[in-house]
Amino acid sequence: MQVQLFNSKLEVKIDNEKCDKCLICVKLCPTKAIYLKKDELEVNQDLCINCYGCVVVCPRKAIAIKRIDSVLGYCTLTI
Ligand code: SF4
Ligand code: SF4
Repeated sequence: MQVQLFNSKLEVKIDNEKCDKCLICVKLCPTKAIYLKKDELEVNQDLCINCYGCVVVCPRKAIAIKRIDSVLGYCTLTI
């Protein structure tokens, strides 16, 4: 029997095509995780605490929080 070991984490994704750079999310973010870099918004995922505040306030619905799964490895059980 083989068991897959997963690691799951949440990531904030910003659609810069939809974003009109109103910067409401930048001002609201409690950990300053969202920042402007060369006219595009980026997110420092290490600072984000997944509070969903930016998702809720964005008037353009340009922000989403997505679950990212990655396979850590496989465990083979012998019973
Ligand atoms: S979810 Fe919260 S902490 Fe993370 S980027 Fe959005 S406002 Fe900031
Ligand atoms: S709140 Fe939405 S539209 Fe405004 S800067 Fe942030 S992502 Fe862009």
